Amino acid sequence: MNRTWEIRHNSGMNQVDYLRISLIDRCNFRCQYCMPEGTEIDYVLRQNFLTQEELLTLLRGVFIPLGFTRFRLTGGEPLIRPGVVEIVRAIASFPETRDLSMTTNGFLLKLLAQDLYNAGLRRINISLDSLNPEVFEQIVGSRGRTRWQQVWDGIQEAYRVGFNPLKLNVVVIPGVNDQEVLDLAALSIEREWHVRFIEFMPIGNDHLFNDRGWVSSEELRQRIRMRWGLTEGQVQGNGPADVFQIPGARGTVGFISQMSECFCDRCNRMRLSADGWLRPCLLNETGQINLKTGLRSGISLINLRQQVRTLLAIKPEINFKLRESGAITGTYSRTMSQIGG
Ligand code: SAM
Ligand code: SF4
Repeated sequence: MNRTWEIRHNSGMNQVDYLRISLIDRCNFRCQYCMPEGTEIDYVLRQNFLTQEELLTLLRGVFIPLGFTRFRLTGGEPLIRPGVVEIVRAIASFPETRDLSMTTNGFLLKLLAQDLYNAGLRRINISLDSLNPEVFEQIVGSRGRTRWQQVWDGIQEAYRVGFNPLKLNVVVIPGVNDQEVLDLAALSIEREWHVRFIEFMPIGNDHLFNDRGWVSSEELRQRIRMRWGLTEGQVQGNGPADVFQIPGARGTVGFISQMSECFCDRCNRMRLSADGWLRPCLLNETGQINLKTGLRSGISLINLRQQVRTLLAIKPEINFKLRESGAITGTYSRTMSQIGG
């Protein structure tokens, strides 16, 4: 066994207590970088989704006993999952839940923000790749419909009902929205909004990736630094963002740099897909198990817990190997929406 890995593994540096739960693999948007129009996606059949009851059984009977206390609901688009508010309410009510959050495209937030808040959700990340409605429609593949205003209204509504922190996710694509980086960063000045720039990854649309390439976080920081200066921020999330602040701003700007700076060895999360696959890593399926199949075939929760424990035991080695190989260079056949990004 590699000695360095052994030391890190045994030091228990990364307590894996964070589960990203994909509620659905479908989406009402067709973002160019994720599942562009025309992509053939092998959608999960409805009968193969983990039902609400199955999901809650797995959380109560498998994940919480193993020390998971932080949960993020994602997708696809989590807000199109029927019963999403009830799922939020149930997870928020577990005494062990320390943190519950959601990543959404925001399209249905105007309608649902208050209900989600009342159900116990407090933290939300909303994707907003452009402030220019035309560019936005192009990015999300609106097919002639105008969606920017509804997303913007959804963000305002989430802010109004009290979501805190409220984070805005921006995937930066050269020649598409990178000219808006300063305008987007400026959103953090007046309001307590946290704008996070995500390096474009070759997952979902490798044509676009090969065509446009990606912009590094460091380059974006330089641009922001030159305009306003940047100081280290105070806000720490669960995730891998490096957080900074424009001097005097109420919010922060964060950078998720998985292309330029592999942070696999800091990974503290597992991912559960809408059809019950538990994977140790976004980019690696080694050892993945299907908990829904296990549950439906009558395998006991004790046994399923043991299977997850085994997967947890190999996760540090998977992450360490990825870190060593700087692996985020190839192309990947599954989109973020299928994995639960
Ligand atoms: N539909 C929701 C949304 O868009 O926020 C949640 C699911 S989406 C898959 C989760 C996150 O993955 C979003 O912030 C999205 O921007 C990001 N994402 C999707 N494809 C990506 C890619 N190729 N590179 C980097 N980030 C990506
Ligand atoms: Fe849908 Fe989110 Fe993917 Fe866009 S990034 S297509 S909103 S899942």
